[in-house]
Order: sequence, then C-alpha cells, then structure tokens
Amino acid sequence: MQSDIEISRAATLRPIGQIAAALSIPDAAVEPYGHFKAKIDLSRVPATGKQGKLILVTAINPTPAGEGKSTTSVGLSDALNRIGRQTVLCLREPSLGPCFGTKGGAAGGGYAQVAPMEDINLHFTGDFHATTSAHNLLAAMIDNHVHWGNALDIDVRRIVWRRVLDMNDRALRDIAQSLGGPANGYPRESGFDITVASEVMAILCLATDLHDLEARLGRIVVAYTRDRRPVTARDLKADGAMAVLLAQAIKPNLVQTLEGNPAFVHGGPFANIAHGCNSVIATRTALALGDYVVTEAGFGADLGAEKFFDIKCRQSGLKPSAAVIVATVRALKMNGGVAKADLGAEDVAAVRRGGVNLARHIENVRMFGVPVIVAINRFDGDSAAEIAAIGEIAMALGSEAVLCTHWADGGAGAVALAEKVADLCDHATPQFAPIYDDGLSLFEKINTVATRIYRAEEAIADPGVHAQLKRWEDAGYGALPVCMAKTQYSFSTDPAKLGAPTGHVVPVREVRLSAGAGFVVAICGEIMTMPGLPRVPAAEAIRFGADGEIEGLF
Ligand code: ADP
Repeated sequence: MQSDIEISRAATLRPIGQIAAALSIPDAAVEPYGHFKAKIDLSRVPATGKQGKLILVTAINPTPAGEGKSTTSVGLSDALNRIGRQTVLCLREPSLGPCFGTKGGAAGGGYAQVAPMEDINLHFTGDFHATTSAHNLLAAMIDNHVHWGNALDIDVRRIVWRRVLDMNDRALRDIAQSLGGPANGYPRESGFDITVASEVMAILCLATDLHDLEARLGRIVVAYTRDRRPVTARDLKADGAMAVLLAQAIKPNLVQTLEGNPAFVHGGPFANIAHGCNSVIATRTALALGDYVVTEAGFGADLGAEKFFDIKCRQSGLKPSAAVIVATVRALKMNGGVAKADLGAEDVAAVRRGGVNLARHIENVRMFGVPVIVAINRFDGDSAAEIAAIGEIAMALGSEAVLCTHWADGGAGAVALAEKVADLCDHATPQFAPIYDDGLSLFEKINTVATRIYRAEEAIADPGVHAQLKRWEDAGYGALPVCMAKTQYSFSTDPAKLGAPTGHVVPVREVRLSAGAGFVVAICGEIMTMPGLPRVPAAEAIRFGADGEIEGLF
C-alpha cells in the first residue's frame, strides 16, 4: 500500500476553475491560489435559494488505534457523488502543530483524501497566518495601551488574552514578558496557545459575514479592570484592524477530493477549548451549492457532535438531516480493554464489550433528533465476525452499521453507506433541537451536558467558579451556550475510563468567557491549549527526497 502522500501525488487533479464551474460558481468569484486551490468571493456568487441536506460525520471516542472521521467524510462524499447525489464536502483545515507532532496530516487518508495534501497540511491559503496575526495584533494593542498610560484602567494581573502560534511549542506555555526595562512595558506573566485554540479562530468559524465577524471581534473580552469590569477588543479599538487582517481568511477555500469532487476546507478551531468544526460560512455556501453536504466534527460525538449541535447549529440555524458515527473494530476492541499491541488478534468478545461506547453515542446523537447510521471503517485484519458484532450492536438500537472500504477503494468502497445515508436524508424526518435552552443558567447548561451526554451523576465546581458564572450572567452573558473542554478519550474526565463509564462526576476546574465566539468554556480536567511535541516528532521524518518531492507527511 502506498503512503497517503504517494497516493495523493499520483492523482490527476482538475484545475480548480473546473471544480468551481461544476458547482455553478461564476469565474469572477474564483480567486485561485495556484492551480488547485481557490478562495471563493461570496459577494460574487448569486443566491441559489437552494438548501441542501446536511450530514454530520462524527465518531466513537478516539483511541490511538484511529477511527478515520476525515477519511470517512471524504469517502462518503465521493460515494454520494458516485450514486448521482450532488454532494459538497466541508472539512476543517489542519494545524501545523499536530502535523509536525504525532498525527501527521489531516486531509483524509488512503484513497479518500482531499488534495493537494501537502498544501492543505502546510501553509494552504494563509488562513492560520491571518488568524495568528489578528490575534497577536490585539495582544500587542493591550500591552501598548497599558504602556501609554492605561486609560481603560486595565488590571495587568487580569489580562486574559494570551498570544498564539501555530506550532506545538511547550516552551512558550508560560512566559514572563515585557522584561528589559521601562521601554518594554510592564513585566507580567503570560503565555502562548496554539493558533487553533484562539478565540479569533472560533470567531472566524462562527461568523456569518464580515460584518458579523467585526462585531464578534469587538466583543472579545481581553482583560478586567481593577473593579472587575470586562475590557473588550472594541474598547481598545482593535476590532476594525483585526477584521481587515481576516478579510481574505473569511472566504472559504475550495479544493477537490482525489476523485475530483468539490470540497471546502475552511477554519480549524480546537475541539476542546472551542467547538471543533469547519466554518459556518463554508457550510452555508456548500448547502446553497450542493444537494447534500458532508461535514465533520472533531473528536468523539460526546465533544464534537454535541458542540456541533449545541453551538454551531444553535448559532447559525443549521439543521442536520443525518449523522454518521464512524467506528472501527480496533477502537472498539480498545474500548473493550485490549491493549494496542494486541489488536491484531481476533477478539469478538472485546468488540462486544467496547460496543457500549458506540451504543451510547448512538443514543446521544438521537437525543438531538437526528437519525444515525454507523460507518465501520474497515482496517486490514478486521475479521468478519468482529464486523458482524458491530452490526448487531447497531441493530439492537434500531440503527444500522455499514461496512466501508473507502480508505482502500475510494468512493466505491462507501457506496453502500452513501445509499443508506441518502435514504435517511430523503425519508427520515429529523427533528433537530439543541439539548438545552438558552434560558437555563450557565451551570445548568454544563450540568445538562454532563448528565445527559457524559451520563455523569452531576457536574461539580468550586464556589469561585459558580461566582464567576454568576458575574457573567449579571453582565449579560447568561444566554450563551457552553463549550465543554474535557478529554476526548472518555465520556468521563478520566482518559483511562474507556467504554461507557457511569457513576462519575464532572469537575469544572475553570471557566472562560469567549464572548466574541459566543460561548462560555467549561474546563473539566487537564486541558492543553499549547500541545508539546512527542519524543520523536513527525518533523524528524519530513524532508525533500532525492526527486525533490516532500517525504514524511502522512
Ligand atoms: P480522524 O479524522 O478521526 O482524526 P483521519 O481520517 O484523519 O482520522 O485518519 C487518521 C489516520 O488513519 C490517517 O493517516 C489515515 O490514513 C488512517 N486511516 C484511516 N482509515 C484507515 C483504514 N481504514 N485503514 C488504514 N488506515 C486508515
């Protein structure tokens, strides 16, 4: 089997203008970046009045065994196009951090990829650069404001806006800044987060247009005064310049799958500290151009799908028609207690034991009123009996599991899934609704997710957390949804509790206000907003080969 990058390079891509034309995007709206990528200027795309059907791809809790959500999103989209259903794919942009760290690229895998994968995985169209610049402009303007007299009375101990960089760099997590004397400002502690954890990235992904983008940027709370009043980006007059820096980045990026089908790859918010899905603008554009739209949410359904429904769909009015939960034999075996090194041996009982994880995700997604189908992403070595066991788990819940081989076979390997998904979209009557109302208190919202989705006994927090939430409610932020930040590996806050744990509590360690993005982040357990590189980073294997082509990006 060839590597992802070899497969990608061997594909013959169509000029991006042809991909746009097939979607009836006028030439004038296509801003090419090279031959195979383009930004789309939406002001030049006539309204179609069309409203395609939205399909969410989500997954069981991730394990080191791999699940393949992006790969399945691409495979499903290609398969839908194969069976004559005109489909547009919407994915997130990869971050450089994981690319050079452990994960490698994030453009799908095998014969189910978006291309050109080197570009998408590296600098692409510069959106992350623009996000980094807009974020750091605001940071510079805060320190500059304090330096020149601090008319807003910012309490330098209560500046909550850090700096960002699109790299895994643990050395920058906590820093002492403004050292070196009076000319360099007031020394204080701060730190860096990875760009995808920036609220600016979340804003870019939730904004509906440039005007909304600027308004949201203005609402970012960067610090508090000595008497605890929030200071915003608008108070600092930073919102206009930040929006200007993001003017190109807000335009969705059009690329293609290896089978020549259209894909928007746009935005990449973290799935823990933010909501983890591609941009609302790209999704809406795709829905106006395609009959079906396949999109993906980060991590497992407890985090990704919940936030897709409760944050992205709530804020934008999107109504998903169906959801696909990706499961693999290997990941279910791990959820059933098998060690990674032993995954090669057939173990039907372990698949059944781990199946409780899948079952709970199926029940949860249905709670939002969205019909569910399971995609079994087939890996070499999966046995027929193990695959059948997944089918039985889904069937017991009145759902269905479909075996897919898109990683090995491209869209042809997911035709059966596509037929079922199209059928679900066409005939089921989804009654999508978020799981809690805007009117609940912020803590009640956190508790609803903890008890109904994570199946915990309750959410708990120190009085300081409750007091902070109360202050925000009093300041007018009480109607916001909550963005849960917890480990992606478990329904609980303990990454070691696989399967379907019960009896746990969800401790809320800290809360953060993302007033511009429009949510309150509840941090449960240890959450990293600046990852580090592993002992042997993927970067060590990335280089140019003798033929001048990039090697080691996978
Ligand atoms: P996710 O979106 O869930 O993080 P990806 O789709 O990015 O996962 O896939 C992660 C990695 O697993 C990729 O390198 C991909 O090539 C690989 N992968 C996905 N599906 C399969 C499969 N069926 N067989 C082998 N490798 C796979």
